[in-house]
Amino acid sequence: MTDLTLNTSNAPAAGLPVPGAAVYPGLDDWRSLPIAQQPTWSESPSFAPTVKELSVLPPLVFAGEVDVLRSRLAQASQGQAFLLQGGDCAETFEAATADKISSRVKTILQMAVVLTYGAQLPVIKMGRMAGQFAKPRSSNDETRDGVTLPAYRGDIVNGFEFTPESRQHDPARMLKAYHTSASTLNLIRAFTQGGFADLRSVHEWNRGFTSNPAHSRYEALAKEIDSAIKFMASCGADFEALKTVEFFASHEALLLDYERALTRIDSRTGLPYDTSAHFLWIGERTRDLDQAHVDFLSRVRNPIGVKLGPTTTGDDALRLIEKLDPNREPGRLTFITRMGAKNIREKLPSLVEKVTASGAQVLWVTDPMHGNTVTSPNGYKTRNFDDVIDEVRGFFEVHQAQGTIPGGLHVEMTGDDVAECLGGADPIDQEAFLTGYESVCDPRLNHKQSLEMAFLVSEGLRQSK
Ligand code: PEP
Ligand code: MN
Repeated sequence: MTDLTLNTSNAPAAGLPVPGAAVYPGLDDWRSLPIAQQPTWSESPSFAPTVKELSVLPPLVFAGEVDVLRSRLAQASQGQAFLLQGGDCAETFEAATADKISSRVKTILQMAVVLTYGAQLPVIKMGRMAGQFAKPRSSNDETRDGVTLPAYRGDIVNGFEFTPESRQHDPARMLKAYHTSASTLNLIRAFTQGGFADLRSVHEWNRGFTSNPAHSRYEALAKEIDSAIKFMASCGADFEALKTVEFFASHEALLLDYERALTRIDSRTGLPYDTSAHFLWIGERTRDLDQAHVDFLSRVRNPIGVKLGPTTTGDDALRLIEKLDPNREPGRLTFITRMGAKNIREKLPSLVEKVTASGAQVLWVTDPMHGNTVTSPNGYKTRNFDDVIDEVRGFFEVHQAQGTIPGGLHVEMTGDDVAECLGGADPIDQEAFLTGYESVCDPRLNHKQSLEMAFLVSEGLRQSK
């Protein structure tokens, strides 16, 4: 458990809300609960001033947008839309460049078009972007060649470089995370509101990516969409609505110092919203019912996700529903299952059955990445594309058998041509990792693997209709 006691003269006493932050009953109850996976930085002189500054900076997202997302997710939970959530395992400050952000947005738009066209369903587009900077770790330390230093916990906490200075937990990094999120969101908003995401640019999004099987398949689909649009245009259809696209930001709400400081009271409703992102999720390692993360997120109005791994029991799921969605509000709660290809067909049915029998309506999403992590013979953290696909297939099979709704896909992906996951139609082998592995945390699908995945999921969706 992290010690939140502060000794510096300008720091608030432990357990008290930080001056300037939104005040609302219960918002600080998490401070007296056990909390996992937090940095040890409360002694740092820059901690209190940083939190104070964060708590008066403008919100990154707006309560009205968050409400729109909740209603979209409600549609997805009823099978009237599908959620596509994708991005890096861990964003870094260094990689927040225009090129990398636009490649990722383009890839998500391409995947969304494939899914929309295949499944004939609206796709809710959401990035693990503009705030995905904090990482839970299995160990507090990392040892290399006999030297032990604090583990990398994401750019919002410390640096990836293996030196004592870089690995020190530094609260001032929260401000850099805020500003990097703001500039990332600014670019995303420009892309998606300024015409770049217009469906009539469906060919443009494919430009600049190297040719491969998924790429050609996309090109063929884009041609079909193009002719459908031309046909509709000659019939006099009005395409103004295609110019702008909704795109939502999400991240794991791991670092409660940051999330609490960005929580604001909505002037319309008087209720607290965590304005660091539209959607926040609780990770598999911090979803303990009696601990800080579940308590804090139960008190904000944002739609909330919870990752559920293979040890989750039906009772765990029911208790999470009771705590996070006591009013059974459509769109409020998403369960992101990450069971592993080997487990999904065995473990998911009883969870789905129990939740469905309770009458609760959650959105079921598959994360086919986190239950399928392995180490390659040459020592890289990786995932086999076939295992990832197998978990997605299992997810569709289970929901089909239960008559429930497979409502979304959560993936770690990038628009770049990296080599981090094995396999795919244009296969990546472990030798490619030596030059193409860039992730500072978990392995991501590259651009072509992401597109290939979208085609496979769109087939699954068509069948499940
Ligand atoms: C993640 O999404 O990067 C992550 C750590 O997931 P999980 O909580 O499912 O392990
Ligand atoms: Mn990850």
